[in-house]
Amino acid sequence: MGDTEICELVVIGGGPGGYPAAFYAADLGMDVTLVDMEAAPGGVCLYRGCIPSKALLHAAGVMREAQAAEAFGLSFGATSLDVARLRSWKQSVVSKLAEGLGQLMKARKVRFIQGRARFADASTLVVARSDGADERVRFKSAILATGGVPTRLPFAPDSPRVMDSTGALALEDIPARLLLIGGGYIGMELGQAYAAFGSKVSVVEMLPELMAGADPDLVQPLAARLKQQFEAILLETRVLAIEANDRQVTVRMADRAGQERTETYDRVLVSVGRSPNTRDLGLEQTRVQLDRSGFVVTDEQRRTAEPAIFAVGDIAGPPMLAHKATFEGKIAVEAIAGRKSVCAPQAIPAVVFSQPEIAWTGLTEREAAGQGLAIAVAKYPWAASGRATILGVSDGLTKLITAKDSGRVLGVGITGPGAGELIAESTLAIEMGAVAEDLAQTIHAHPTLGETVMEAAEMSMGYATHVIKVSK
Ligand code: FAD
Repeated sequence: MGDTEICELVVIGGGPGGYPAAFYAADLGMDVTLVDMEAAPGGVCLYRGCIPSKALLHAAGVMREAQAAEAFGLSFGATSLDVARLRSWKQSVVSKLAEGLGQLMKARKVRFIQGRARFADASTLVVARSDGADERVRFKSAILATGGVPTRLPFAPDSPRVMDSTGALALEDIPARLLLIGGGYIGMELGQAYAAFGSKVSVVEMLPELMAGADPDLVQPLAARLKQQFEAILLETRVLAIEANDRQVTVRMADRAGQERTETYDRVLVSVGRSPNTRDLGLEQTRVQLDRSGFVVTDEQRRTAEPAIFAVGDIAGPPMLAHKATFEGKIAVEAIAGRKSVCAPQAIPAVVFSQPEIAWTGLTEREAAGQGLAIAVAKYPWAASGRATILGVSDGLTKLITAKDSGRVLGVGITGPGAGELIAESTLAIEMGAVAEDLAQTIHAHPTLGETVMEAAEMSMGYATHVIKVSK
């Protein structure tokens, strides 16, 4: 077994938690080793998550826009899809980004080991390298960033027709009938892409609504479109059994009243959530602790109960989002560098890249109500926005949740095209402790969708140019 010198920092996992941490630490002058099972950094986000899913959604969006353009006199003829080309384009996007990350890593002189790491003790890792050799890595500090894995349904059979998100992103074919199990963001995004590509998509969800983490008024425009785009939306319905053979998948379900139904599909996508990836890491050789849900317990600097070991990203708790992982990774590096940084964001944006997009940041209205806060909610309808009208979007919404007494911005929710881009301003506003007046008094360019944030802020102050009779 090979043995290396003691390295200052080893990062286990090269996803959006791990690789920015490794790069930042190298920029701060640390000697850094990064370990990942893939050939280059990027993690789930790049290879099996954010990037390939958004590539498919972009293609699906272009298809839908081309069809919708008939309304203003543009016709491209019937849209058609070459699945093999779409697949290889999506792969080229991933490869280009992976190559770029590899170059950035080399330029920073971060040592990369491709392999599977396991703790031998609280200051030693054993890496089963991809070339077959085992290497012992001794470290002063470690950042654990091994991410998450799709949660499995215990009764789901092992079959290529029963896919998780990784299988769905592989885009083997466009199934004639596809069932999504789970109405969260991963299922809705991928389901909408498959529906655009020609699948008849159904969704089954145990809860009474889709996208349960977001406020219902933000989800409503998406739900209305899905009603038209999907074959069936089965809420308050539980999957009881799944059987698969070479040609199809049979699914037995029961609704709230216990009424059972059995349907057959060409493929099923199980998207019932993600779980932290802590298996077989040798954590029992350390003092690292897990909570009841399996997440690594950390303090506000993301230090575990083992002082030399930090944990960031999906493994360290919800929300399981790439940008939250990156933020935590940088805090952990600063803590290792001896700085007093802590992880205390006021707002973490969440974006569903569906059509229309849904984005929110800070508190949702439900969360604010759940905390018993005295709030005011201003809702600016996009039907009053010039830009939205040009885009043909009348069902968009920008809503501002403020503290009733001070006007301080507590949360913002947006639904409509570009919501994911628009939400950045609101996250900054919350981080800066802005009040509604700050947003209202900031000049926003015309005609842009950004003006909807400004006018929602005006509404919360009792006056908005394009809305009559604003009730405060
Ligand atoms: P990961 O990205 O999961 O990376 C962990 C890495 O650790 C992997 O590369 C793995 O190979 C490596 N690893 C694991 N065990 C070991 C070991 N023992 N030794 C060495 N290496 C190991 N988030 C968003 O913010 N926006 C989105 O739009 C979005 N879309 C998504 C779409 C899909 C389909 C999925 C599945 C996820 C999506 N996510 C999205 C979630 C996002 O991918 C994760 O939150 C993010 O990747 C977490 O980053 P991480 O660094 O914690 O770990």
